[in-house]
Order: sequence, then C-alpha cells, then structure tokens
Amino acid sequence: MTNKSESLFKRAVKVIPGGVNSPVRAFKAVGGNPLFIHRADGSKIYDVDGNGYIDYVCSWGPMILGHNNAAVREAVTEAAKNGMSFGAPTEAEVKLAEKIVSFVPGVETVRMVNSGTEAVMSALRLARAFTGRRKVIKFDGCYHGHADAVLVKAGSGALTLGEPDSPGVPENTAGDTCVASYNDLDGVEELLKKNAAACVIVEPVAANMGVVLPKDGFLSGLKELCRAHGALLVFDEAITGFRLAKGGAQERYGVTADLTVYGKIIGGGLPVGAYGGRREIMEIVAPGGPVYQAGTLSGNPIATAAGLAALTALENRDIYGHIDKMGEKLAAGLSDIARKSGIKACVNRAGSLVCLFFGIESAEDCKSAKKADTERYAGYFRGMLDGGVYLAPSQFEAMFVSNAHTEGDIDETLDRAERAVKVKVK
Ligand SMILES: *Cc1c(COP(=O)(O)O)cnc(C)c1O
Repeated sequence: MTNKSESLFKRAVKVIPGGVNSPVRAFKAVGGNPLFIHRADGSKIYDVDGNGYIDYVCSWGPMILGHNNAAVREAVTEAAKNGMSFGAPTEAEVKLAEKIVSFVPGVETVRMVNSGTEAVMSALRLARAFTGRRKVIKFDGCYHGHADAVLVKAGSGALTLGEPDSPGVPENTAGDTCVASYNDLDGVEELLKKNAAACVIVEPVAANMGVVLPKDGFLSGLKELCRAHGALLVFDEAITGFRLAKGGAQERYGVTADLTVYGKIIGGGLPVGAYGGRREIMEIVAPGGPVYQAGTLSGNPIATAAGLAALTALENRDIYGHIDKMGEKLAAGLSDIARKSGIKACVNRAGSLVCLFFGIESAEDCKSAKKADTERYAGYFRGMLDGGVYLAPSQFEAMFVSNAHTEGDIDETLDRAERAVKVKVK
C-alpha cells in the first residue's frame, strides 16, 4: 500500500535511531511501519504515497486550528522575510508574553524556551531554588518531557514501549522524584508529610496515559496540600494549555497553579515551550535573579510569530465552542459503537481531548488505564488507518480534535470506527 513510505523507512532506520526522531512516531505497539507524511491541510494529512487521512494526532496537539492554518503560515512567512534569528529581544516576544499573561489567571510573567521538556526542566529547577528543597512529586503515567527528573513512571512513549524508567537516568536523580497515583490525594499527602518537596507537578488533565480526568476536588485538593506543606504546585499544561480554554485547565477548573509549563499549541506548530507563574517566583530567574536558564534560539522570531498568530486566532474566534462540540460528538459516537458491538470499552473526554480505551470500564489513574486491551487497540488502529483515519499508534495517547474537523469528518470517522472496532490482529 505504502511503497514510498516503506522505502523511506528502510533508509531512515540506517541513519536515525529506530528510523524516527521521537519514539512515539514508531508503529511498534500497533505493528507495521510509520507513514511518512508529505503535507497536511485542515483536518487531513497526506502521506508520501498520496493517501489522505482524517488526522487525530494533530502533531500531538499543536495543530488546534487545523493543519496549515493560513494566518499562522502567513505570519511565519512574513517574519522569515526579516531574518531567521537575532539573539536579541524583539517586539513579537513582548506581544506573545502579554497575550499569555492576559489569557492565564496564574501567569504573571513568562519565559520562552524551545520545547515542553525544556520548560519542565527549567520550572523544576526554579521550584527547587525558590523553596530550597530537592524532592519533586509527580504522578504515575503523567508525562513531562524527557528530562531525567521526570523520566520516572512516565506516560506517553515510555508507557507505550513499556519502559517507564529509562536507563541512563542517574539513581540519585530518580531518587529525588516521588511518584503518587493520579486522583489519589491521600497518597500525595503521605508523600508530602514524609518528604520536604519543592513541588508537585501534574498534568491537570492527564493526556499521556490515554485521557484521564481529574476527579472533582483533585486539583483544588492538590493546591491546598501544597499550600499546607510549603510545596509549589506546577501545572504541566503542555497539552491542556490553550486547548481546554484560553486559560487552559486553570480557567476550566478554576484552580491556579504557582508555576505553569507550556508546549505544543504555544508554538503554533514550531518548536516552542514556556514556563511562567507568580511574579515573586519568576523574579529569581536570571538575569533578574540567580536561577540560571538560557537559550540561544529562545523567543526565536519565526517561532514567536507562529505562536502569536495561533494564540491570536484562539482569542478572536469561537474555536472552543466548535472543538468541544466535535469532541463531544466523537466521544458519544465511539461510546455508542462500543456498546452496540458488545465490546467492553470506555471513552474519556475533556473538551477536544478524547480517548477510547478498550477492555476496561473506567480509567482514573495509570493502574486502571494500563489494564486497557492494547492488542485490540492495535487492530482498531490498523482498521482505522485502512479506512483513512490517522490515530496515534498507541492506546495511551489522546485523540486531538482541531477547529478544522467538521461534523462530516466526525461522521466519517465514526463510520470507519464501526468496522475497525471489530478488527483483531493475529
Ligand atoms: C509533550 C509534552 C511534554 C514535552 O514537550 P516536548 O515539546 O515534546 O519536549 C511535556 N509535558 C506534557 C504534558 C506533554 O504532553
């Protein structure tokens, strides 16, 4: 079916580890080899062999406006006319920071970096410096990028490939990271009592072990516990930021974090991350304070132009109404299909983040999510791909709905899903 993709993959594995530049792109968990993509537009991506697919990966979240959005593309093209990088401040950086601060309740100042990983790493350093404490509390199945401190019981690719703890992470580093169970406030309290923790870092909606929602009171409970024990609350909104609302999960759930981490949507499809939060904490970052953090290409004019155009579009159009409605239609349709086919499954959804878990009745933490039937997912994935729907090649990732997804796209997706849920591999 995919001749050019196959031959590119053969070449790729000779010169790139595993043939991919990020492990989540591999098809290891679902069988077969990854498709090589040539272009994308709106809700569709097209592979090098000319096959089109309705896309629910959306570059793992950034493409909330749909692929190849005209406003973002034009902003990038315009910016490129003035040069690629200056290593000096630009007006666009100020505008982007002003926009983020105006969107998010808890963010008073913000520092731009180049990826979500970098943002997390920097936020943890800052939390440790601010509190004078070493330990960090994270949750089983939450992914916070691939920095050493958080590559412990991580979600996403680490969970998919069955290596939640990576060799090469020093024991001492991993030892400073305590792991709690998502939605388990008692467990967090116990850890906070035993350890002087610098911070609790959490995905306010977990979207890297499939999609797992915070129970009522979980996020506000975390905030209270952090307050009581002198730890900072860090929201990793790399996925939820600018997706669940302009102000992300903090706006949606009405809980403000001390520090917030961004990635994905904030760059409009270019490599960008950021961390921000309360002024008194952010103030100790260099050059205002002693906590060192730097970046040659941070705030890069082209990346900044893309991010600014994306956030401006999110501000000016009713995107959230549409993507939430499409997410709801998709989730309801998938639930129906599973029920009618007599397949044990559950669908979790937060706004435009949707996940169909096979083989389980609920997923409220990593332990329950991990029980999902990954073999069944593999069959479903293959069936959907054959039917022209591109899903993440893993049970433990979200479906991302963009503003370009139409009712017609969702109907077509559900039509394909009706057949694909019955596909079994081997
Ligand atoms: C993707 C992601 C990251 C890492 O961002 P990169 O840009 O891939 O380094 C961190 N946290 C969460 C919640 C993510 O989903």
